[in-house]
Amino acid sequence: MLTRPLLIASMLSTTLMTGSLWAGQGSGLRAGLAAGSGPGVGSFDPTTCPAAMPYEAVDAIEIEHVVFMREEEKLARDLYLVFAEQSGWPQFTNIAASEQQHMEAVKTLLEKYAIEDPILTDQAGVFTNPKLQGLYDTLLAAGQASATEAFRVAALVEEVDIADLDNALAETDNQDLTQLFNNLQRGSRNHLRAFVRTLESLTGAPYSAQQLTQERLDAILADGMERGGSGQGGQGRGQR
Ligand code: MN
Ligand code: MN
Repeated sequence: MLTRPLLIASMLSTTLMTGSLWAGQGSGLRAGLAAGSGPGVGSFDPTTCPAAMPYEAVDAIEIEHVVFMREEEKLARDLYLVFAEQSGWPQFTNIAASEQQHMEAVKTLLEKYAIEDPILTDQAGVFTNPKLQGLYDTLLAAGQASATEAFRVAALVEEVDIADLDNALAETDNQDLTQLFNNLQRGSRNHLRAFVRTLESLTGAPYSAQQLTQERLDAILADGMERGGSGQGGQGRGQR
């Protein structure tokens, strides 16, 4: 059964750092970074054709991965909305909108494959999977320490997404799921780059990998923003 994503989630509390009061709220830096991140931060859109492949039967492991990802995308969205409210950084608002699109893309596949949605009522900060509930609670507390820590938590969330999607991709041969997971992972790489850029500007120090290997992280950070695949909407630039 699906153990690796849950294992990653359960390991996270040991990697968290706590920090000082909200910092880095200088409007000049914040406005400058927000402007530099472009208008399309939340515009990555795998929902354009998330279920376009031929129907292929899904096994229990594939179902667990897609169910898990539905709530992992929610975890990201819910955290970033809290951080947006608390910090005032528009980057969190914009990327939360992207996570909402990711949630909807996953839901499209849940419906196509008649898989039960773990999100019974979409209530912020509430999760069916107890591991994700625990992770959310831990990350929320850590990110509330300061704006810097919120960005550090956000970068960690994106690293965890990438790692969990590695595992999901390794355990599916379904074409819809493969396309979905690849799209979600591309979004996470873009988000990771955006959060790291801001975090490094706040701390003045290079970001170190929290979940991925440093080598993998460095390779991701060395790349530029990745555009979505075919059929995406009209935003010209930004972190999809
Ligand atoms: Mn996402
Ligand atoms: Mn993300």
